[in-house]
Amino acid sequence: MTRTADIIVIGGGIAGASAAAEIAADGAKVLLLEMERQPGYHATGRSAAMYEPIEGPALVCALTRASGPFLESPPAGFAEASLLSPRGVLMLGYAGDEARLAAAEQAGFAVVDMAFARARLPIVKSAGVIAVLWDGLAQDIDVDALHAGRLRVLRRAGGTVITDSAVRRGQRVDGIWRLETAAGHYEAPIVVAAAGAWSDLVAQSCGVRPVGLQPKRRSAAILAGPTGMAVQHWPEILPADIGFYCKPMGGKLMLSPAEEDPMEPHDAWADDLRLAEAAERLEATLEMRVSRLERTWGGLRTFAPDGLPVVGFDPEVDGFFWLAGQGGYGIQTSPALSRVAAALVAGKAIPDDMVGAGIDARRMSPARFR
Ligand SMILES: Cc1cc2nc3c(=O)[nH]c(=O)nc-3n(C[C@H](O)[C@H](O)[C@H](O)COP(=O)(O)OP(=O)(O)OC[C@H]3O[C@@H](n4cnc5c(N)ncnc54)[C@H](O)[C@@H]3O)c2cc1C
Repeated sequence: MTRTADIIVIGGGIAGASAAAEIAADGAKVLLLEMERQPGYHATGRSAAMYEPIEGPALVCALTRASGPFLESPPAGFAEASLLSPRGVLMLGYAGDEARLAAAEQAGFAVVDMAFARARLPIVKSAGVIAVLWDGLAQDIDVDALHAGRLRVLRRAGGTVITDSAVRRGQRVDGIWRLETAAGHYEAPIVVAAAGAWSDLVAQSCGVRPVGLQPKRRSAAILAGPTGMAVQHWPEILPADIGFYCKPMGGKLMLSPAEEDPMEPHDAWADDLRLAEAAERLEATLEMRVSRLERTWGGLRTFAPDGLPVVGFDPEVDGFFWLAGQGGYGIQTSPALSRVAAALVAGKAIPDDMVGAGIDARRMSPARFR
């Protein structure tokens, strides 16, 4: 049996779930196909859950800022409270970091001092520190609530989520895409490729040329904070060379070596050696010992060649829409990107408030790679 829809979204991470919910809210019949048993199993479920509006290329910052109002005050019925909570990022600079510190200041970090740092993170070491910077706009995102809220809104709007349904092949016949998946056949005039690290592969399986996406692995671990210390209100700590970062998560600490190792799309796992190096650097930065990593994981951050998202209809193949290449910013930009995607899928101009926020859809078009 073949199921039909107006729009099929491929991929149930934050990108696909958010776009599917926005498109369904416009009245379209939406099917969301997810290859895993659980949507959110890949990059979305493995992030650092940060909202950092002064981090990344200017267009990404604009998308993040434009996403702020949704995350701060989600619509009625979506979530009970704000999806953001205060965090802040403390950047420490050492000899040799001068250019990096200047760039961070230019991006919006404020210059503070060790007393400011110690008031927020009492065990920070001052040895060798030449400058301390502060990003007070950085917040934590409740990613689970955001993702679950999107799927709930999608279902309420009549959309359907089908898991264990990896798209294997797609063919467009007489203006309709026919998708063959592990769970059956599906048809719609438009498909949205929101398959994260796999988006180029999904395109190829539909006879569409890839845009050159590069997944890059990032490892992470959970460890206990120093005995007897409540860490939950500590800021994220980040050396200016971004050799690692560490932030509170679930009452413990999350540590990442912040690596960007190019990989093929796969179910990523952590690089233990890099985590050990990050633990050493953490010990050199804070008065604490890392005795054990309680849990480790890896995830893929997927970048287009110019580091900007890829959002829009493919110029060479009708009805194939890209929503990929969000890099390390896919959670914090998802409210804005999904509204832009929903407008473009419907053949409309992007919303006025997005234009006002400095978002130019042409800069995200896949046409730039053709
Ligand atoms: C360690 C780490 C830290 C991060 N920190 C942050 C952060 O602080 N803030 C932030 O905003 N972002 C962060 N990111 C980036 C963020 O996680 C990603 O940008 C975002 O999750 C991408 O969402 P996505 O939906 O595009 O991809 P994914 O979540 O990977 O979803 C893609 C989905 O497509 C499915 N799929 C693939 N192929 C097929 C197929 N053939 N058929 C059907 N389904 C398919 C997959 O199973 C997957 O569920 C971080 C990432 C990592 C790894």
